[in-house]
Amino acid sequence: MSGRYRPPRGTKDFLSGEAYTSVFLENKAREIFYLYGYREVKLPLIENKDIFIRSLGESTEVVEKQILEISSRENLCLRPEATAQIVRAYIGHSLYLQRLVKLFYIGPMFRGERPQKGRFRQFHHIGAEAIGEKDPLLDTELIGLAEKLLVSFGIKDFYLEINSLGCEEDKNRFKSLLKKKLTDKVKLLCENCQKRFFTNPLRILDCKEANCRKVVNSLDIGNSYLCKSCLSYFEQVCSLLDKRGIPYKVNPWLVRGLDYYTQIVFEFNSDNLGSQKAVGAGGRYDGLVRELGGPDKPGCGFALGLERILLLRNLEKFSPLKVFVAYTSSELKSKAFELLTELRDEGVSSDMRFEFSSLKSQLRYAQKLGVEFVVILGEEELKNNQVSLRDMKASSQERLSLDGLIGFLKKGGNVKDA
Ligand SMILES: [Zn+2]
Ligand SMILES: [Zn+2]
Repeated sequence: MSGRYRPPRGTKDFLSGEAYTSVFLENKAREIFYLYGYREVKLPLIENKDIFIRSLGESTEVVEKQILEISSRENLCLRPEATAQIVRAYIGHSLYLQRLVKLFYIGPMFRGERPQKGRFRQFHHIGAEAIGEKDPLLDTELIGLAEKLLVSFGIKDFYLEINSLGCEEDKNRFKSLLKKKLTDKVKLLCENCQKRFFTNPLRILDCKEANCRKVVNSLDIGNSYLCKSCLSYFEQVCSLLDKRGIPYKVNPWLVRGLDYYTQIVFEFNSDNLGSQKAVGAGGRYDGLVRELGGPDKPGCGFALGLERILLLRNLEKFSPLKVFVAYTSSELKSKAFELLTELRDEGVSSDMRFEFSSLKSQLRYAQKLGVEFVVILGEEELKNNQVSLRDMKASSQERLSLDGLIGFLKKGGNVKDA
């Protein structure tokens, strides 16, 4: 990059190729969300910091280190994720009066952390939440929906991991069991995990340090902490995924670092992303609505990371302009502009250059734009009320009457039909 100013660290300029591709993916996502009965919401990027502290948990990485505060006096931050915010809106707008509310969102999220590859301070999520009902079918619908989105985005090399944290009691049982198994191994853990042992032992399972991984992999916990009904719920979700032919792997160490998760948690990973392997993740959060002051309603959702998706696929090709209008002398510029306007009014995508240059230079420019046709306005032709039409693919050129030109281009046909 050159020039004096760069984008702020951890942010990224989306130039036309990436912007075009991200909008293409967003629109694809919208289509699929509507197909599944989800409705879009657009919520503020600025949010009350408290809702994230309450929902994600005081001792989570996001709250400890990553909230991008913008006003400590007003307790405002840029939203680090959308689930807690959607639940805030769900309660505030009394959406709980409906039995089941299915919402989706697409937009930027913010983290105030040290930027790394695949991890930004501003990044974009495509996500969905279903609040109000609890059924293994609904969990399966959400997992299947996330999978369908990834497939429709053209992502192939990803895999699904799933686990159950159980209900609140199970989670507590999980924590004490983990602490018991780790008691004589604490010294082997990294400095952070030694603290986590006291504050939030589940997060030790997420640690990427090699030594911690080694300790964690040697533990034998299985899902012995799950109560009977949570175990059965988990088994039902797994068998529904089997039935739908969605491949997955049960990962007993998958806990997701956020406090609000209960029961089912899942992650879509890819090995082509470096150390950050998650393309998307989600789970059930049955206590969250109550925690933020609403009625006791269950919820489930997921989010996919747009930047990670862009790392895993090629950029979409622009559909190029159809016509470039060239003119052979500066006296013809306004005539060319008139024709350009007429073409656009008729819905034919077209453009021209405004500082006159040689025909050769205009044709070179048109070629770069990838247009299908160049209309050339020349003195000679215009005397006979004609223009030249150059078919860029066929490299052929013919004369056409000015009257017939627009009709021909609208039909988008072949020069031979003219
Ligand atoms: Zn349970
Ligand atoms: Zn560690």
